[in-house]
Amino acid sequence: MQLLSANDMARLDCGDCDGCSACCRGMGQSILLDPYDIYQLQQITGLKFAGLMQEKIELSVEDGLILPSLRMQPETDACGFLDAKGRCSIHSHRPGLCRLFPLGRKYDEKGLHYFLLEDACEIRNRTKVKIRKWLEIPALSQYERFLTIWHDLRGDLQAQIGKRQSDTFAQESNVLFLELFYKRPYDTEEDFYTQFGKRREEFCTSGILAEIS
Ligand code: SF4
Ligand code: SF4
Repeated sequence: MQLLSANDMARLDCGDCDGCSACCRGMGQSILLDPYDIYQLQQITGLKFAGLMQEKIELSVEDGLILPSLRMQPETDACGFLDAKGRCSIHSHRPGLCRLFPLGRKYDEKGLHYFLLEDACEIRNRTKVKIRKWLEIPALSQYERFLTIWHDLRGDLQAQIGKRQSDTFAQESNVLFLELFYKRPYDTEEDFYTQFGKRREEFCTSGILAEIS
């Protein structure tokens, strides 16, 4: 697997998807959402977490941790943000995993890397584009730093939940995690990263995380 950085080129450009919406359908609960995604969804829809939960997102469990994901609609098995013409109705604010496709992310001690999911996109003759341009994310370095911190925080908590085998610990840590990073509304007029930093601080100094360290 070739590991790439944001300044590398990769065969990603599928010609604006041209009538294809395959990766917005039948995805189960695989399009997981991070706090930045929720901030973006709040900004574009005006809905808070509870409003999004009505029909656009749902909760699933990954290695003991409860996480939200895009909800495939029961009638169509398509994402609730896919419009009647097969286009993303929230394109400018779409979640990070939607922007990424057909790339994957890999984390190691050097940080975040990208790699091409060779057979993921149905379009075969894709053209090369710089990953940074493909992602269309403002302040990408800051976003990548956030992703790395988020990945580590999630991993640490999942490892603790697995290690402890305690329903009480799993429940209490999930309640706090969901409340702090997802349910508590973000101020969409304010910088996301500042808000995330404060919430992370709150999480890390909570009784739950004191138990973890
Ligand atoms: S599978 Fe490829 S071409 Fe089809 S919607 Fe996804 S990214 Fe676009
Ligand atoms: S948010 Fe947009 S790009 Fe992502 S799965 Fe839904 S319709 Fe597709």
